[in-house]
Amino acid sequence: MSLGMIRLLLVLTAIAASSPSVAQPQPLGPAAFCGIPTFAAPNPQGASATVWQGQPVIIIDHSQFQNPAWLQFVVAHECAHHVLGHTLPSGMWFRNTTYWATAAQELQADCWAAGTVHPQASAVASQQFFQQGPFPGPAGYPSGAERSANIRRCAGF
Ligand SMILES: [Zn+2]
Repeated sequence: MSLGMIRLLLVLTAIAASSPSVAQPQPLGPAAFCGIPTFAAPNPQGASATVWQGQPVIIIDHSQFQNPAWLQFVVAHECAHHVLGHTLPSGMWFRNTTYWATAAQELQADCWAAGTVHPQASAVASQQFFQQGPFPGPAGYPSGAERSANIRRCAGF
């Protein structure tokens, strides 16, 4: 469980309750690749796989994923974190923070997504990560170039 995401959702809920102009998380239905309930909400991470009120959920900030192929890959990546057990206590144990998955988990989730989505979505994701350069997350995270190469390998390019 991501304590950071719970705090974020609590903050969002508090803001939404006090300000009708701020949207609450909008349910989007089950994710295409895993059936896990998905919500649209502002998300500084862009997208997250977390456990909310005991249920696995995916939180997507669509403003950060304008390209549909990129969005498809990102949803599959978040599915992978749930499917591969990264959001279970056993997966969380390996994290040095509760907010970010480990570098290995990120690469595993990318690989699962690359084997699941349409090849075009993997191609777009590989390009997006390559252009990203250093990952704007914790130290030790794989670079954009590493993630790009990993996705291409997993997609069979
Ligand atoms: Zn991830």
